Amino acid sequence: MIFYKNVRFKLIVWYLFILCLILIPFSTYLYYSLAKSLREQLDYELKAKGEEVKNILDDYMERNEIKFLTKDRGMKARLNAVSEYIHIRDSNGYIIYRSERFKKHPLPSRHFNFDKITPENSITQSIVLGKNKGVRVITLLAREKKGPDCFVQVGLPLKDINYPLNRLLLTLVIAIPTTLIISSLFGWFFVYKSLNPIDEITKTARKIGDGDLSQRLKQLKSNDEVGRLVETFNNMISKLEESFKQIRQFTADVSHELRTPLTIMKGEVEVALRKRRLPEEYEKIMNGILEEVELLTKIVEDLLFLERAESGVIKLNQEEINLNFLLGNIVEQFKTIMERKKLDFYMHVEPEDIVINGDAMQLRKLFLNLLDNAIKYTDEGGKINLSILSTGKYAKIILTDTGIGIPEKELFYIFKRFYRVDKSRAGDTGGSGLGLSICETIVRVHNGRIEVESIPNFGSTFKVFLPR
Ligand code: ADP
Repeated sequence: MIFYKNVRFKLIVWYLFILCLILIPFSTYLYYSLAKSLREQLDYELKAKGEEVKNILDDYMERNEIKFLTKDRGMKARLNAVSEYIHIRDSNGYIIYRSERFKKHPLPSRHFNFDKITPENSITQSIVLGKNKGVRVITLLAREKKGPDCFVQVGLPLKDINYPLNRLLLTLVIAIPTTLIISSLFGWFFVYKSLNPIDEITKTARKIGDGDLSQRLKQLKSNDEVGRLVETFNNMISKLEESFKQIRQFTADVSHELRTPLTIMKGEVEVALRKRRLPEEYEKIMNGILEEVELLTKIVEDLLFLERAESGVIKLNQEEINLNFLLGNIVEQFKTIMERKKLDFYMHVEPEDIVINGDAMQLRKLFLNLLDNAIKYTDEGGKINLSILSTGKYAKIILTDTGIGIPEKELFYIFKRFYRVDKSRAGDTGGSGLGLSICETIVRVHNGRIEVESIPNFGSTFKVFLPR
């Protein structure tokens, strides 16, 4: 992977960039504010020294002419005691006196604008002498009673303030990169630790992509974003695994269901082709094949219905439905078969008809399936009860039989596709295990619910609740 496309690298770069954005302006501010306050302190000291020299001179000039100053040893000593950097110039700018430090490098007069200096207005400026020797100089005007004015210039070496400033600069130049290096190392460590699970996720996702859905990520102890991502990822894979399992199971079930009628049909055709037969025999075989074709068609239609309902394509053809009428009609259809099986059927209805909103065709399919099951799974001489009740917002349809019943542990599965309690009886009952799945779907799309209670060998009760 190209390293600059790495999230870790991008995070560190951003981190360092923000750190620079904070450290550099802060250090610059620190440096310039220290330089400013040191310069102000130096200027303050300089002004005090300048005033002191000026006072000494004013005092001297009260009594003597300034030109005698250079010969006055006492005065020189007094001036030296105040500062080692003193220049005294006459009103024309010519040097009258300069202290030892200015002997080698006198202050060049071209740097000073003497015209602007008045008794009230002194000027302070920085001058470079010789090899980078900077001095801060204050120029003041001293008044000679008996003669013209003279200019007093007192200096202080800039190294007094440059030294701490250079130290600070050096410290900053070392400290900033060191801070950046140490921070980036720590940053890298934390980013690496935090993002490591993401690499794990990628590796696992790759394995899953190769088809191994049993893979899971190691659950992290922390409940941070990455911890939650790992949990969500694992949940998602579990659901995917479950879905794939269901799809595989479904494909196996469909193949199995379709194979049986196809095998029967193949057998029948083979028998038919083995020798020449009478037309009646062919007719019998053809009828057998037709039965299997009808079964196949029903399975495919049921599957198509379930698939359309699952993907939300089914549109309900809503209309007002009189349940008493609809169910009465369905019961009529089963009358003969119930009589043949000597089943004792009883229908309980309330005095008032119960009307709901729903799709007549689908509700018909729902109750046909339920009643068909009740008859199918109840032995001769059994009882079947059908009640249509109204409970507040719901119409409640209860279908009870005294049939073979369903074991408790199977109750949970009977609404699943292709689920049959007794697989070996599939051939006898002619069911494909899709009936209850369709019932549950129809009830669901009508915003209702279906419940089942059953005791093996005593019978089953199916309750359907449909909103009114
Ligand atoms: P089938 O087409 O096999 O009847 P269904 O989806 O309608 O499929 O029912 C699923 C299974 O539930 C049946 O195979 C049967 O074992 C059980 N079952 C459904 N209704 C009843 C009932 N009234 N009494 C006993 N068992 C039932």
